[in-house]
Amino acid sequence: MGRMISVEKVYKSFGTLEVLKDINLEVQQGEVLCIIGPSGSGKSTLLRCLNHLEVITSGKIMIEDDLLAEKLDGKNQFKIAHKKISEICTELGMVFQRFNLFPHMTVLQNIIEAPVSVKKLSKAEAVAYAMELLKMVGLEDKKDEYPARLSGGQQQRVAIARALAMKPKIMLFDEPTSALDPELVGEVLEVMKKLARGGMTMVVVTHEMGFAKEVGSRVIFMDKGEISEEGTPEAIFSNPKNERTRAFLQKVL
Ligand code: ADP
Ligand code: MG
Repeated sequence: MGRMISVEKVYKSFGTLEVLKDINLEVQQGEVLCIIGPSGSGKSTLLRCLNHLEVITSGKIMIEDDLLAEKLDGKNQFKIAHKKISEICTELGMVFQRFNLFPHMTVLQNIIEAPVSVKKLSKAEAVAYAMELLKMVGLEDKKDEYPARLSGGQQQRVAIARALAMKPKIMLFDEPTSALDPELVGEVLEVMKKLARGGMTMVVVTHEMGFAKEVGSRVIFMDKGEISEEGTPEAIFSNPKNERTRAFLQKVL
């Protein structure tokens, strides 16, 4: 077991809007950290800071032993080479609410694109691994389809396979099932459960409380840019300490 993510005193503002306030958290190898909380509480922004899609205003983020960002009042504490940042970010795979597949590419092309163009894998190697991943998400037979011909659940499973194709050590999920019709949610959660059982370190923003309960190692409740409660799924769901956590859970459960 090792520490995969460390977030220390992170603040993030958009102009005068303070979106993250004094965020502190650690994620250990193999943990599934679930982040819940009302809309606008900063969940997506926090995930996006973890893979440098957003740049923090102050604080420090480490991915394994690598410094991803360290800032004080918007100024870099240390100059981190851009190349280094992009290398660190290949350790993290991300799956969004909207599947964001390349519409003009087949399923297989979507999956091998980054391994071939970024990781410089040979096409044969990339295809072989893509087929393993398609098998894992149950979509081998769809390899030559275009995204538009797949259901939302299938597209999201391809998106997961595409993220995994870069062999990330950490997977970030931002409400991966909230754009799906209810009957398609289960197939995506099943793939995520399989990943979790395989020992993948995961940070999952979700409204699926059942998933958080069953698979989550820890749950964080975010409210107005702060982590207002943190605990085991058991503790958060059956005995929330914070009044706002309780009110939120009453609405969603
Ligand atoms: P959540 O994912 O919990 O719904 P977000 O992290 O998306 O919350 O957003 C938190 C707050 O930050 C919201 O008030 C949102 O409008 C604002 N916000 C998010 N991204 C931007 C941006 N790029 N520019 C300005 N404001 C943003
Ligand atoms: Mg969000």
